[in-house]
Amino acid sequence: MAMIIDGKAISAQVRTEIAADTKAFSDRTGIVPGLAVVIVGNDPASQVYVRNKRRACGEVGFYSEGYELPEETTQDELEALVDKLNANPKIHGILVQLPLPKHLDAEKLLLRIDPKKDVDAFHPYNVGRIMIGNYAFLPCTPAGIMELLRRSGMTVEGKECVVVGRSNIVGKPMAMLLLQANGTVTVCHSRTKDLASVTRRADILVAAIGKADFFTADMVKPGAVVIDVGMNRRADGKLTGDVDFASVEPVTSAITPVPGGVGPMTITMLMKNTLRAAQDSVN
Ligand code: NDP
Repeated sequence: MAMIIDGKAISAQVRTEIAADTKAFSDRTGIVPGLAVVIVGNDPASQVYVRNKRRACGEVGFYSEGYELPEETTQDELEALVDKLNANPKIHGILVQLPLPKHLDAEKLLLRIDPKKDVDAFHPYNVGRIMIGNYAFLPCTPAGIMELLRRSGMTVEGKECVVVGRSNIVGKPMAMLLLQANGTVTVCHSRTKDLASVTRRADILVAAIGKADFFTADMVKPGAVVIDVGMNRRADGKLTGDVDFASVEPVTSAITPVPGGVGPMTITMLMKNTLRAAQDSVN
């Protein structure tokens, strides 16, 4: 029987710890960690994420500000808001919800965010720090996965790790973190030849491609640990991962479900980064 890695329970535990650390920090310094969440346009999925992020702030004792800007917001207007938040001492973390509407240049905007307040760790300065293993913030989803592995008693050292997906926010930083934890890492993508022959080598398989139920039992090594990052909507509106859970689960030694696996950890890691930004602001 596979262990079902309970992201909800682990996330609740980490949030309790963050709330305690926040209280201790605020009692000592009088500073309340502050997060600003900016959203442009009316994408319903993004609106849900933003609401959840602000709710999580309240739960751990943070101050938060929300900016809901209309679809037709210009690059200049958005950059002016980022400048204002960069200069605001009550704000320690700035999160601009992606994707932005097409007329806006996300890459240019991310460069504008003060790296010390870049709690998503998307600024090239922070990406570079991750590359050399000397970082303040880790990108939330891969960091959450590392925390899930650690707290479930899984070691990475010496393991064959296969990451499928090479995006800047999930696949690439995930590979880097597994490498830093002394895994032997292979990264696959849409041009990988004979994907199944590579994924079948994995002791730890991270599926992050955004294709519903794509990974089937024949692609997984018996006893592997499978981390499903995918968040896909089925035709009936139900949320499903990249892994065909019903067929894959019996083959694995441990697996994350969707929902209730990786998802809850992502916001928790955002809280962790915001607390770290506030702590670093006094050092
Ligand atoms: P992207 O669309 O940016 O990247 C997808 C990656 O998957 C690309 O590198 C692509 O390859 C690769 N890919 C696509 N199809 C295949 C295939 N058939 N075989 C092999 N590789 C393939 O996605 P993200 O990284 O942003 O997100 C991935 C998934 O994770 C999505 O479902 C997303 O919703 C989810 N997600 C979940 C989060 C959470 O908190 N749980 C947070 C962030 C994302 P190529 O580069 O060659 O195009």
